Amino acid sequence: MNSHQLVVVGGGPAGYAAALSAAASGMDVALVEKSKLGGTCLHVGCIPAKELLETAAVFRTVADAGQFGVMSSSPGLDMAAAQRRKQGIIDKLASGLGSLLARRKVTVYSGVGRLGTGRAVEVGNGGDSVELACGNVVLATGSVPRTLEGVEVDGRHVVTSDELLSLEEVPASAVVIGGGAIGCEFASMLSDLGSRVAVLEALPRLLANADKEISRVVKRSFAKRGIEIRTDVRVTGCENTADGPRVLLGNGDSVSAELVVVSVGRRPHTEELGLDATAVRLDSRGYVEVDEYCRTGEAGVYAVGDVIDSPQLAHVGFAEGILAVGDICGENPLPIDYSNVPWCIYCRPEVAFAGLTEAAARETYGDVVASKHRFSSNGRAMIVGETEGLAKVVAVRNPDGSAGQLLGVHLVGPWATEQLGQGYLAVNWEATAGEVARFIQPHPTLSELFGEVAMSLTGRSLHG
Ligand SMILES: Cc1cc2nc3c(=O)[nH]c(=O)nc-3n(C[C@H](O)[C@H](O)[C@H](O)COP(=O)(O)OP(=O)(O)OC[C@H]3O[C@@H](n4cnc5c(N)ncnc54)[C@H](O)[C@@H]3O)c2cc1C
Repeated sequence: MNSHQLVVVGGGPAGYAAALSAAASGMDVALVEKSKLGGTCLHVGCIPAKELLETAAVFRTVADAGQFGVMSSSPGLDMAAAQRRKQGIIDKLASGLGSLLARRKVTVYSGVGRLGTGRAVEVGNGGDSVELACGNVVLATGSVPRTLEGVEVDGRHVVTSDELLSLEEVPASAVVIGGGAIGCEFASMLSDLGSRVAVLEALPRLLANADKEISRVVKRSFAKRGIEIRTDVRVTGCENTADGPRVLLGNGDSVSAELVVVSVGRRPHTEELGLDATAVRLDSRGYVEVDEYCRTGEAGVYAVGDVIDSPQLAHVGFAEGILAVGDICGENPLPIDYSNVPWCIYCRPEVAFAGLTEAAARETYGDVVASKHRFSSNGRAMIVGETEGLAKVVAVRNPDGSAGQLLGVHLVGPWATEQLGQGYLAVNWEATAGEVARFIQPHPTLSELFGEVAMSLTGRSLHG
C-alpha cells in the first residue's frame, strides 16, 4: 500500500489546484485522474468554448473590416483548421499542467479513485488496482452535462457541450435548449459563425442570475442579430424527423433545426466514488455535502469544485481547492463568500459581474442606489466598433442619501470579462463609491466607464 499525506481524486481545476497548493506547502501529494488531467474546463469546457468563441469573433471582425477602411473579401470558415487551433491550445495547456505537477513532485495515478473506510483510496485501472493510505483526501470529481427527459442525446443531431465543442461543420440552423451562461455562449458563437439560432429557456429571461438590465441588453443584442429567443417555454421532448430533430414544447408548438444543443446545466459526478461505506453524504440533488471549509462528514475528507453545491466555475473550484488545503494545514483560512465571486460570460456582448444584482441588493438592504453609463458614449468603445452595453454599479444608500459601500458591479459590453477585475476588487474590498471615484482611470479605455459610474454615484459625474 502506498501512502501520501494528501490524495486528491479528480484532476480538473478544483483537484489540481488542491494538489498544487498542497505540494507548494511541502506536502507529499497524489492526484488520481481517470481520464485527462485538466478535467472539463480544459478539455470540454472553458478553454475550448472560449477558443471557438474567438474564432467566431475573428470571423465577425474580418466580415466587418470594411467599416475600418480595411478591404478584405468576405471571410470563409475552415472548421478543421479552427478545431486544430483549439486542440493545439488544449494540448499545450495540458502538457504545461503535467509538467507543473511533476515539478511539484505530485504523484499522478491514472485510474478511477474510490473512497473506502479509514481514508483509503483504491485506484482501479482495468484489472489492476493500487491501494492508497491517505492522511487527508480531497474529492474533486466534478460534473457532467445534465440531459432532459424525452430528449435523447445521440451525439450527432442532438448534442451536449461535450460534442458541440468538436463541431466539424457549422449547422445551417441550431436550437439551443437553455439560456444560461453556456447556452448563451453557444447561441452567440453559432450565430456569429452563420447558423440560424433559436434559444429556448424555461425561465422568464436569459441569464437568470445576472442583473435584469444586463440580461435585457443581451436579449436585445441577440434579437438584433436574428437569434430567436423564447423564454417561459418548457421542452417536453424531441423527435427525429426526415428533416432533422424537432424539439417539442409544452404549449404544443415545436422548433426544428439541423442541430439541437442541450445546455441545461451540469450534475455532480459521484457515481464511481464508492462512498457507501463512508460518512460522506450527498444532498437530495446528488452534491457532496460540505461545511464552509469544504469538509465532508468523514473526518479528513474534503470535497471541492463542481461536485459540491457552489457556483460551477473553474475559478471557484481553484479557490475551494486552496481553501481545503489551508484548512488541512491549520492556517485558519477565510471561507469563500459565494455571493461575491466573479462571473464571466463570453457571449457577444460579453457579461461580467460580481456581487449583488440591484434586485438582490434591494431585498437585502432595502433602499440602495444604482447608477449606470452606456458604452455608446465611451470613446474606446466607438474606436473598437462595439458600443452596445453598459456598466452598472449598485451601492448602499447612506442615511444622508449618498452612495456608500459598493454591493455589485455589472458589466455588459466589449471585453467586459477583462474589465471586471477592478469592480470585483472594489466589491470584495468593501470599497465605497467615494473611494473608488478618487482613482484615476486611463483614457481612452473601456474601463473608464466603471470609474465614471462611481463618480456619478458621488453626484460628481464628469461625462453624463
Ligand atoms: C462548455 C463549458 C464552458 C465553461 N466555461 C467556463 C468558463 O468560462 N469559466 C469558468 O469558470 N467555468 C466554466 N465552465 C465550468 C468549468 O468547466 C467547471 O466549473 C470546472 O471544470 C469544474 O472543475 P472541477 O475540477 O470541479 O471538475 P471537472 O473539471 O469536471 O474535473 C473533474 C475530474 O475528475 C475526474 N474524475 C471523476 N470521477 C473520478 C474518479 N472516481 N476517479 C478519478 N477521476 C475522476 C474527471 O475525469 C475529471 O477530469 C464551463 C463548463 C462548460 C461545460
